[in-house]
Formats: sequence, structure tokens, C-alpha cells
Amino acid sequence: MTKRIGVVGGSLGGLTTACLLRDAGHDVTVFERSSRELEQRGAGIGFLRATYRYLAEQAGLDVSTISIETDNIRYLNRDGSTAHNSQHSYLFSSWNTVYRKLLDAYGSSGDLSERYRLGHELVDFASHASGVTASFGNGETWEGDLLVAADGIGSMVRSRLQPKAVPSYAGYVAWRGMVPESQLDPDIASQLGDAITYYVYANSHILVYPIPDNEGSVAVGGRLINFVWYRNYLEGGELTDLLTDQTGVERELSVPPGAMASHHVAEARATAAARLPPQIAAVVEATKELFVQVIYDIDVDQMVFGRVAIMGDAAFAARPHAAAGTAKAADDGWSLAAALDATADGDAGIDEALALWEPAQLALGRDLQERTRRIGVRSQVENSWTPGDPEFIFGLHKPGD
Ligand SMILES: Cc1cc2nc3c(=O)[nH]c(=O)nc-3n(C[C@H](O)[C@H](O)[C@H](O)COP(=O)(O)OP(=O)(O)OC[C@H]3O[C@@H](n4cnc5c(N)ncnc54)[C@H](O)[C@@H]3O)c2cc1C
Repeated sequence: MTKRIGVVGGSLGGLTTACLLRDAGHDVTVFERSSRELEQRGAGIGFLRATYRYLAEQAGLDVSTISIETDNIRYLNRDGSTAHNSQHSYLFSSWNTVYRKLLDAYGSSGDLSERYRLGHELVDFASHASGVTASFGNGETWEGDLLVAADGIGSMVRSRLQPKAVPSYAGYVAWRGMVPESQLDPDIASQLGDAITYYVYANSHILVYPIPDNEGSVAVGGRLINFVWYRNYLEGGELTDLLTDQTGVERELSVPPGAMASHHVAEARATAAARLPPQIAAVVEATKELFVQVIYDIDVDQMVFGRVAIMGDAAFAARPHAAAGTAKAADDGWSLAAALDATADGDAGIDEALALWEPAQLALGRDLQERTRRIGVRSQVENSWTPGDPEFIFGLHKPGD
């Protein structure tokens, strides 16, 4: 039986889920707060199987056209020489590239604007015995059988249903940026283009890898080199100052490209030159717009609340060290679709499906969070990360998987 399903949040988790539930024959509508299609200025993602599974298996896309495969995990010394190199294959893509492909796949079945409702910020909802109602900031309302909340780390749905589950600051942020490889010294571009390259130093680490450019090009010479640099800031004044943008506005989760206060950008560039290997410092130096994302932990002890299910970062925001955030969100969607498929067709089937879905996804979220928290502590606090440590291999379920 076709169910009316609303998905709140039209990012990678919400879109993957919407595509899968639509393919299973349900009547799906995505409600996205942003009034325009989303854009994350191309930031890179480690591209694990669950993230590309829909595009590869259901949308028939050749993954090599939207990602870059690297063959090496390489650690550098401060002087730029190689401290460790092991052969290990990873795929990398960019948030924008994957979003565009998922949106194309979701839009292929009809009028996208009807099914992907921009400018719809969920402001209220109520679950009852046989369904759910939702209201949006623009005055519209919706009624259906199931509401899936994929509204990210700042989830209003989670804050309403699990008020004690508030984001807890990890003690550090990620400084990020991308630079066209064509703008780097060719030697540096080629050294950084076939590997994930790490530099690990006191209470910090930085990783660098190639990603598609803003138009999705994966051709060597036309890609971007992306970095993620984890740096500690004390909670309170120091963090607040970092998150106060150049117009004086205090941000909460991130300061976007172009908005960082200039004294922080100058400090980051100077620190890169003073402390990072020359190849990596050159990437930071050449990046036009540095930006910052704060690292938080979020966990819940329940993901199902009547006819409301919370998933992705809305439920568990794990630290990024396993490169598995979008994969976990997608896995939540795959397993929800499977649970709905496996249970009775009638109305009671939804409750059965949600009961079937929740325990495994709670366990997945908890495990990932525990593992990535441990990596964060080892790197940013204990300084016990030695080059080549297998615990630091990316993976959703465990290192390498
Ligand atoms: C530094 C860093 C590096 C990372 N690296 C990786 C990586 O390498 N690989 C990887 O897989 N993941 C990575 N991640 C994690 C990844 O970005 C997240 O896990 C992923 O984006 C979560 O997807 P989501 O769909 O659950 O939520 P989000 O992407 O946060 O999307 C939530 C959506 O909900 C919308 N929304 C919010 N509130 C409302 C509302 N009230 N009504 C309607 N819409 C609403 C938002 O506008 C947004 O579009 C990284 C994260 C960080 C911070």
C-alpha cells in the first residue's frame, strides 16, 4: 500500500531516503528549509559505499564519473618527506557533486518542485495513532502516514523529541578549504593528487585529498585539492571569537567561505607556514576562502517517536574521522526502505517497520560515534596517533568497511 511520507531536510541523507521510498512506490515529499537548491561550495567527502550505493545501483551511474580514486595513504614529516606510505584505495567526491546527482535521480519521476519543496521550514508537528501532521514557517501544512526527520545536526525535530540530546562541543573545529590543482606548483599537485595525505602533530592533524571541481570534473588537472585541518579551541571566549564572522555575527555550527574574520584567516595561514609540511602549507596558502565547521557530538537513545523517525546527523552526528557521516545517513534510509518493504502492507505495517528499523540504526550510530570520538581524543588530546595506525582507516561499520 502506498504510504504518504514526508522527509524533512533535503540534503544527502534526506534525498537518498526520498529516492528509495519513492522507488518503493510511496508518495514522498521532501521539505527543505532553504529557499534555494542547496550549495556547500564543493567541500570534499570521503565517499563510502552507502553514500554512492543509490546512485550506482538504482540510478545506474558509473561512480568513477563522480569521484576520484586515490591509491595511497601517506603521512608526511614536518620537512615534507614521507613518514609512511601504504597502498590503500579510497574514493573521494564533493558534497555538491553527489547532491546534484541525487536531486537529478529524485527529479526524474516528475515535477521536482512539487516533490522537493524549497522554503519549507518545519516549525511544528504532531504524531497520532495513524499518522502525522506537520506545519511549516510559510504557513503550509501537510498530513501523512510517516515523517522522516533528516534535518541535520541542529534538528528541530530532535530538540523537540529528545530535548536532553544537545550538541556537545568536541573541543576542536575543522578548518577547511579547496584549491584548483592547476593553481598549485605542478610537483605539489602531483604529490597530493594520488593519495590521502596526512600530517599529524601536537594536538592537531590535517588531511588533504583530491575532489571533483565545482562543475563535477574528475579529470586530472581540473580537480580541486581539499583539506580538513582539525584545531583545538577552548569553549567560551576563544571559540566564540573564532565563530564571530567579519560582520560581527556570531555563528553556531560553521563560518562559511568568505565570512571568516580576517585576523583568524591570517593566523591560520601563518600557522600553516610555521608548522605544516611545505606541500600542505602551500595548499592552505593558495586557498582563497578558508572556512570553519565546529565538531560536535550528538546522540539519541531513541530514533522512533510514534510516526516520526529521526535519521542521519539529526540522530547521531559522529565526528568526521571515519568519513562516514553521509554513509550513515544513507544507511538509515536504506534500512528504513527495507523495513517498510518487509512488513505488512496495511497501516500497522508502518509501526512494525519502525520497530524493526530502530535497534540496528541505534547500534550503528552509537558504534560510529564511539569509534570516531576515540579517534578524536587520540588525535587532539592524547597525541597517540602514529603514522599508519589502522584504527584511522575510514569506514562506516569499522575501519576499512
Ligand atoms: C569537517 C567535516 C568533515 C566531514 N567529512 C565527511 C566525509 O568525508 N564523508 C562523509 O560521508 N561525511 C562527512 N561529514 C559529515 C556529513 O557532512 C554529515 O554527516 C552529513 O551531511 C549529514 O547528512 P544529513 O542529510 O543527515 O544532514 P545535513 O546534511 O546537515 O542536512 C540537513 C538538511 O535539513 C535542512 N533543515 C534543517 N532544519 C530544517 C527544518 N526545520 N525544516 C526543513 N529543513 C530543515 C537543512 O537545510 C539541510 O539541508 C563531515 C562533516 C564535517 C563537519
